[in-house]
Amino acid sequence: MGYQWYPGHMTKAYRQMQEDMKLIDLVIELLDARIPVSSRNPDIHKLAGNRSRILILNKADLADEKVNRMWETYFRDRGLFTLFADARNGASLKKLDPLVKEACREKMERDRKRGIINRPVRAMVVGIPNVGKSTFINSFAKKAVAKTGNRPGVTKGKQWIRLSKTLELLDTPGILWPKFEDEKIGEHIAMIGSMNDEILHTDELALRIIAYVREHYPENFTARYGEGFPADMQGHEILERIGEQKSIYSKGLKIDYNRVANMVIDDFRSGRMGRISLEVPEELS
Ligand code: GDP
Repeated sequence: MGYQWYPGHMTKAYRQMQEDMKLIDLVIELLDARIPVSSRNPDIHKLAGNRSRILILNKADLADEKVNRMWETYFRDRGLFTLFADARNGASLKKLDPLVKEACREKMERDRKRGIINRPVRAMVVGIPNVGKSTFINSFAKKAVAKTGNRPGVTKGKQWIRLSKTLELLDTPGILWPKFEDEKIGEHIAMIGSMNDEILHTDELALRIIAYVREHYPENFTARYGEGFPADMQGHEILERIGEQKSIYSKGLKIDYNRVANMVIDDFRSGRMGRISLEVPEELS
């Protein structure tokens, strides 16, 4: 299967981010909690340089809680400031403020020693398409939002959202593209929907989701589609059975495979199949 996918505007967005980085003290990197490895772009190390970093494992509400806890330990053990969140829900972001202070302690200390008082930390949100960057900015900014306009000394056209005395957020997030370095990464990105769906055949993608869920979360599969799927049942037979269970027919009482496949994909992405993680830290060791 090919996962080649190079949007034309990628280079431009990358250069823009390199420029924006110059204005930034803190990088807030959003990952998808269901695929922390595949949703991380290795270029971020180069881009962020020695700036402070916070990792937000977003869409944690869609990921397996048990696996979330494993990742939490994994990242904390590596000294990374980490927060699991549902960006749609402002309350889950409450812990971010203290984390920002912790992550930027050295910078604040440096400022203080130089006699610079109350210079806010400037932050930028980065992540792959669809990971929740805009949702995060909107939720996080909700209470405080006073947009600061152009100010002397600040690059023209940049909008900053003042969140508190200590924090300002660039209102345009940095978009990173996933790296399809191996097939698994491409597959995981496709499963969660952060890639053009045309790249994979709908039924192929649905079958991969089904195979994964049946292997790792069989009880979720049964809860959603019922019994009647013997262990040796394969491929389109499964789609057919799901179609029968959910009465998804086209004219002439034939199973509409395309609609069945789309439903399966949507069930998975929306959480109707329950909370499912595609990557666990154990695979890394
Ligand atoms: P962006 O492309 O990174 O800016 O992503 P968006 O902010 O546009 O979010 C993409 C989709 O994911 C939207 O439908 C959001 O409502 C949804 N979304 C964002 N954050 C979360 C989350 O934490 N949990 C869930 N379940 N959905 C989320």
